[in-house]
Amino acid sequence: MRVDRVRLVRVPLVMVDPLVTSDGSHQSRDAVLMEITDSDGFIGWGENVAPSGVTYTGESAVESLAAMRDLLVPCLIDRDVAVGEMYSASWWGVDGWNMAKHALESAMWDIHARRQGESLAYVLGGDDELPLEVGVVVGLGSDVETVCAEVHRRVIEGYQRVKVKIAPGRDIDVVAAVRALVGDDFALQVDANCSYDASQIDRLVELDRFGLQFIEQPFAAHDLEAHRRLAARSTTSVCLDESIMNMDELVAAVETGACDVVNIKPSRVGGIRDAVAMHDYLVNHEVDAWVGGMLESGIGRASCLALASLPGFTLTPDLSASNRYFESDITEPFVLDEGCLSLPSGDGIGVTPLDSVLNDPRTRIETLFER
Ligand code: MG
Repeated sequence: MRVDRVRLVRVPLVMVDPLVTSDGSHQSRDAVLMEITDSDGFIGWGENVAPSGVTYTGESAVESLAAMRDLLVPCLIDRDVAVGEMYSASWWGVDGWNMAKHALESAMWDIHARRQGESLAYVLGGDDELPLEVGVVVGLGSDVETVCAEVHRRVIEGYQRVKVKIAPGRDIDVVAAVRALVGDDFALQVDANCSYDASQIDRLVELDRFGLQFIEQPFAAHDLEAHRRLAARSTTSVCLDESIMNMDELVAAVETGACDVVNIKPSRVGGIRDAVAMHDYLVNHEVDAWVGGMLESGIGRASCLALASLPGFTLTPDLSASNRYFESDITEPFVLDEGCLSLPSGDGIGVTPLDSVLNDPRTRIETLFER
C-alpha cells in the first residue's frame, strides 16, 4: 500500500463528565484523527488518544502529535507499506510513541480492510455479526453514595458489567456498598490504576469476599513481583493494564504468574498488529483478555470494537456507548442495546466522521503530506 495523502483532523469534543488529569479538570478535549488516502483513493481513519498532561505512557497529546507529524508520517512516504508488518518495534528505527503509531497504523488497517471490501473485524479474524456485550467504568467519585448512584444509573441503562475505580482508603467500603447494590451475581470488577504498594497486599486480599471478576493493576507498572505475590495469595484474578506496553512485558508477566487476565489497549501497545499478536499469545497460554478503551470517539471506538470481536478476548471490553462520554459523537453514535454494542456494518471500521463534523468551522483540518 502506498500513501498519497495524510491529513490531521482535530475536532473539539464536549465530555459528559469532566476529564480529570494531572493538570486539571477538562470539560472538552480535541479528538485527534488521522485521515490517510492510499494511491488507489481508499481512505482510512485512525485516532490518537494520547491524553493531555502527564501520562503513564510518557506520551502526552502535544508530544504525540509532534511525533506523528515530525517522525512517523515521513516513514510512510515513498514506501510500499504492508500493514501486517507494522509492529510498533518495526517503525523504521523510530522507538516509542505507541499512541502516535497506533493512530496511523489503525488508519492503514481501515484502508486494508476497505480495499478488500470487508469489515476490519472480519479481516482480523473476529466476528462482525454478533453484538458485543460491553462494560462501563465508574470513577472514584467524591464518596460511596456518589459511586453507588452512578453504578445504579449504569445498571438501569443496561450495562451488565461495571468496573469501579478504587484507591487506598477508598476500597472495601466502596466495593461492599456496590456489591450490595448490584447483587451477588452481577459482573463486578475493580481498577486501582497503580495506587497500592506491596505493603497493602493484605488489604487487597480482603476483597476476595466480594466475588470480583478481577482486580486491575493494583501496583506500579514495573512491580510485577507485587502482582505475582497478590495473584498467589488472592482468589480474585489479577489483571494487568499499565504494566503491559509490549510483547516482552506481556511474556514476562505471564511467565512469572503476575496476572490471570490482561487488558489490551491497542493504543497503549502501539497498534492493532501488536494487539493481535498479544491476543494470539494469550490464547495459546489460556489467559483471559479483554480490550480496554481510552475515551475514544466513534473512530477509535469502532476500531477497538473490531479488535474486541476476536475470540480470545473472553471478557467484556471497556467500550461503552457514545453517550457515556460525549454530548455528541463525531460518527454515527454507538448506542447500547441490552448491554451490547453492535459493530457497524460496512467495510473497514464501518464509520467515518459525519459531514456535519468535517464541515463545522471549529474542526481544524491540516494536510501533513500530499503527493
Ligand atoms: Mg485500567
